[in-house]
Amino acid sequence: MGGTGKMKLIVNGKRLDGRGLADLRPMTIKAGVLNKADGSAYIEWGNNKILAAVYGPKECIPRHDINPYKAVVRCRYSMSPFASFEEHGRTGPNRRSREISKVIQEVFENVVLAEHFPKTAIDIFIEVLQADGGTRVAGLTAAAVALADAGIPMKDVVAGIAAGKIDGQIALDFGKYEDNFGQSDMPFAVSLRTGEVLLFQMDGMLTKDEIAKAIDLAFEGAKTVSDLQVKALKARYTEKEEKGVAPAPEALPQEQPAGGQQGEQPY
Ligand code: ADP
Repeated sequence: MGGTGKMKLIVNGKRLDGRGLADLRPMTIKAGVLNKADGSAYIEWGNNKILAAVYGPKECIPRHDINPYKAVVRCRYSMSPFASFEEHGRTGPNRRSREISKVIQEVFENVVLAEHFPKTAIDIFIEVLQADGGTRVAGLTAAAVALADAGIPMKDVVAGIAAGKIDGQIALDFGKYEDNFGQSDMPFAVSLRTGEVLLFQMDGMLTKDEIAKAIDLAFEGAKTVSDLQVKALKARYTEKEEKGVAPAPEALPQEQPAGGQQGEQPY
């Protein structure tokens, strides 16, 4: 992040990939892609490919993490060693992934209705399979869908979106080159229902007016992201209805049958 701004990124009003300033990269989201997870989602956003899985509310381990009043919400963002052209170096947690995990966790701590599930844990996993700039907002967007897919009550399905400055102009949703060589990058998470900004980071320098413009543009772009999130969840519910495999949680057997589960999970 935080480039020199010397590379030409806008030519005749168009960006390197032909987009206008307020255009997003192509995006598809699919909910319910992993059998074992309580909720899951897969997102392709530009050249980013990211999986999100949610487990919980479930028993909180280690027990010293338990909060008697609400669920603890945890998040692990991780980038696969083959996720980008750059040599990743090592696959374990690093400073960048710890930072991103922390900020995404804080977003969901503020939207999940955790007080409905005291003494439990809700785990969110984000795995970046292919990275091309803006993975934190793309991962967060998928995680919000995975949480909804898990049936976890939230104030809203939050949308991630980045705005920033390239060649002196405020624009939306940077690809990797724009991220690296642009002048400023601002990842956001927003709730369109409440109008809240839940994540707001920034590198580079912007004037007050530019920041205001970037925020307006981010809220505009979040509408597209949010529409696709809702579409993915509706498709998931239609699919469940058609299969007739969406029993109420209380109707499910509490114990696994002897010899383990056979075939597909019931939901
Ligand atoms: P974001 O992905 O949210 O934009 P950064 O701004 O930190 O996060 O990174 C910009 C892009 O640079 C990433 O999306 C990724 O393509 C690439 N990148 C950053 N750090 C690494 C890394 N350690 N290994 C491989 N690629 C990386």
